[in-house]
Amino acid sequence: MGDKVENVVIIGSGPAGYTAALYSARAALSPVVLAGSVPNLPGGQLMITTDVENYPGFPKGIAGPDLMDLFRAQAERFGTRVLDENAESVDLSARPFRVRHDNGELLAQTLIVATGASAQWTGAKGEDLYRNRGVSACATCDGFFFRNLDVLVVGGGDTAMEEAIYLTNHARKVTIVHRRSELRASKVMQERARANPKIAFIWDAVVDEVVGDDKKVQGVVLANVKTGEKTRVDAQGLFVAIGHKPNTELFAGKLDFDATGYLKTVPGSTRTNVPGVFAAGDVQDPIFRQAITAAGSGCMAAIEAERFLGH
Ligand code: NDP
Repeated sequence: MGDKVENVVIIGSGPAGYTAALYSARAALSPVVLAGSVPNLPGGQLMITTDVENYPGFPKGIAGPDLMDLFRAQAERFGTRVLDENAESVDLSARPFRVRHDNGELLAQTLIVATGASAQWTGAKGEDLYRNRGVSACATCDGFFFRNLDVLVVGGGDTAMEEAIYLTNHARKVTIVHRRSELRASKVMQERARANPKIAFIWDAVVDEVVGDDKKVQGVVLANVKTGEKTRVDAQGLFVAIGHKPNTELFAGKLDFDATGYLKTVPGSTRTNVPGVFAAGDVQDPIFRQAITAAGSGCMAAIEAERFLGH
């Protein structure tokens, strides 16, 4: 079989994927990135972020899509081949690994999985319309824009508590809206949130509609799940914290997952349970989920792939 075998194939084009590409390209491994195409959010979650103010090196901030253009250009400068195709299936049963995509197949000595995670959304009316105009799924990214304003956080898990506590650094008042009357979050996080004088709770409620003017969110209509009663709450921000879903569908039954559904890697490493397959970024990180940590783990994956190849 005369098919070309690539040294490194990277699935995913967020900060983890492009950083892995940059490092493996500079190590003369001629990596190939399967960047994905719509609806798979090529460029990752930063493509739906307006201003990124916490990526080091950009003291004035940078728009998420602009930052991802720079990531891609830097990876391509050293010879990364970027294919705007979606990976459709992978065969990890033998090396070289096989990665089928929209337009063909790649053979790979090593594979770096950087498929990221997707925020879950409530699906309420108006939520999509006001995304980045008051509706967000990342307090660390966007909290700063809500200085002295009123915001709602939806969800009852650790992320919702953490987001709410973080938002009290900026917002005037933070109201946690949960669909039950009991939180899912760990006791310590619950206690911290309950003890915070800026945090209030609305129980047994879900978001029915996000309302606003032609620019920004002005309020949220909540529906009580027990009585059906609808109430409008004035707020300038809605933070949805009902969980993230790692994008792991391609790897079901092929790689080990942890208890929360993220790809399992050896601590302090990006190695998965299959030798030669590495995972970087949010697909293996339920905790930090930042562009900079994703980029860091992409770098680790490239170095580990290079060592695996014995270069
Ligand atoms: P979780 O799955 O733990 O919680 C999701 C929350 O969102 C639940 O309260 C759930 O309600 C609610 N929810 C889900 N779907 C909807 C919906 N459609 N409408 C309204 N509410 C909804 O996700 P997290 O992101 O909070 O946490 C993920 C993992 O990461 C957990 O294991 C968590 O412990 C961990 N984590 C740990 C942190 C820490 O230790 N500092 C910080 C952040 C996360 P219900 O309770 O009714 O199911």
